[in-house]
Amino acid sequence: MDMDKVEGSVLNDQMCLAYKQCIHDLAQTPARNTCSRKGCGRLLSIQQATVRSALRLKWVCEAGHVCHIWSSQPVLKYGLSAGDLRLSAAILFSGNNFQKFEMLARYLNMPCMGSASFHHLQRHYLVPAVEQTWEAEEERVVKARKSQQIVMLGDGRMDSPGHSAQYCSYFAMDNASKEIISVVTVDKRETGKSSTRMEKEGFLRTLENLDRKGVLVAEVVTDAHPSIAAYMRKDKPDIKHSFDIWHVGKNLAKKILKACLKKQCSPLKAWLKHIVNHFYHVSSTASTVDEFTGLWFALLHHVTNEHSWVLDCGGGICECSHGPLTDERELEWLEKGSAAHDALREIICDRRFLNNIPYYLNARSTAELETLNSLVLMYAAKRFSYTPPVYRARNLLAALDHNYHLQREQKLNKDGSARVCQSFNKKSARWTVRPVKEQKTYPHMATLIRNVFQLRLSADKPLSSVLCLAESDPRRISRNIAPVEPPSKKELIEQFKSRFSKND
Ligand SMILES: [Zn+2]
Ligand SMILES: [Zn+2]
Repeated sequence: MDMDKVEGSVLNDQMCLAYKQCIHDLAQTPARNTCSRKGCGRLLSIQQATVRSALRLKWVCEAGHVCHIWSSQPVLKYGLSAGDLRLSAAILFSGNNFQKFEMLARYLNMPCMGSASFHHLQRHYLVPAVEQTWEAEEERVVKARKSQQIVMLGDGRMDSPGHSAQYCSYFAMDNASKEIISVVTVDKRETGKSSTRMEKEGFLRTLENLDRKGVLVAEVVTDAHPSIAAYMRKDKPDIKHSFDIWHVGKNLAKKILKACLKKQCSPLKAWLKHIVNHFYHVSSTASTVDEFTGLWFALLHHVTNEHSWVLDCGGGICECSHGPLTDERELEWLEKGSAAHDALREIICDRRFLNNIPYYLNARSTAELETLNSLVLMYAAKRFSYTPPVYRARNLLAALDHNYHLQREQKLNKDGSARVCQSFNKKSARWTVRPVKEQKTYPHMATLIRNVFQLRLSADKPLSSVLCLAESDPRRISRNIAPVEPPSKKELIEQFKSRFSKND
């Protein structure tokens, strides 16, 4: 093939989306040369028409009689091509964005539906199909936990940092199975355009949702969010509340780092990891506040190379729980009463920390929920803006992806050993290994797509019909999330002009 031919039939021709069966049918269609209309018999020509991503061929005679029509995609009710619907579903369900897909199609020279059609399909069929699929999944998880008391891990996730956040998605996980059991999305407009109130709102709605579904929550685990802690103490005294110990550990490390900056306190730095690990150890071994404090205060003696001591109140002898120290220690002992030791005492005896001990006792962690973060980002990328129903649908897709892949096995090497891969953690500047899991199979994909087509088949209106905002849609509260209503376009143009004419 030379370049001329490439220019003509390779570079400039359009591509289209075709079903294999449609091509097969076309191949089996007997050749037609003349019009089949009674008494006509004129010569036929084949006309091409692109209908969104589909190609339609029409056999037309010189008198305009249409003898046969072929489409590269099956045509559903009201003229919608099956491929267009499936393509739209694939764009949303795979976490892509229409704008990016449209660009891809442009480079392919493949016609596809426009933005308005995509968004119509999304609202009428795709978002409802995700909701349906999630509802069934939620029902399954709830049913499996019915009449059992659960430990609920909860965490709110903002779509962007600080005050610029518009949405908070609150995920609740069953601690035993690590399945997502509830997803709530809160829009800033539902909390008086305050992004700081969204997390608590999400938490409250999560508890309501679980209560309505008949899930018995015995314990909730969250980060140390003050307004959630206050609510639990006051309004839900029967439910145990625990804090995520990794958050507490991180704060402890921050406090120690800050203390190290004080005069003559640098020897403390070498102990940082040890102190934080001691906290995790104590949280997971102590079952009462007294046990916790006993083990926790032991650290103050241990760091000075004192491993058994007499209690201040004269209550006998205490000792470290680590047994005889055998290894050559790299850590330098702190001097009793030194600045570093005093700084540590301040941290160990911090009243707020000690008051919170009941929250640490079960050594609960919401770390599993944090792995969901990257999944949510895959389905709802930060650079794009979404309407409330679409944002919720994208979060539900992440939850479905999570639940359906919980049972994935670790990959095996040829010798049968479990496969791991090395990765460099930028934050901790350390190399670690993590297990390599089997490839994802997306078993829920078929259900999602089936639900889309079922919704379309039961539709009683053509595509262009208007869809009202749902009763609970936050856009009913306010059209935008800005704290003040926008000035008129005319005013903005005037402002713009005057700003630039000053320097002329
Ligand atoms: Zn004819
Ligand atoms: Zn010791």
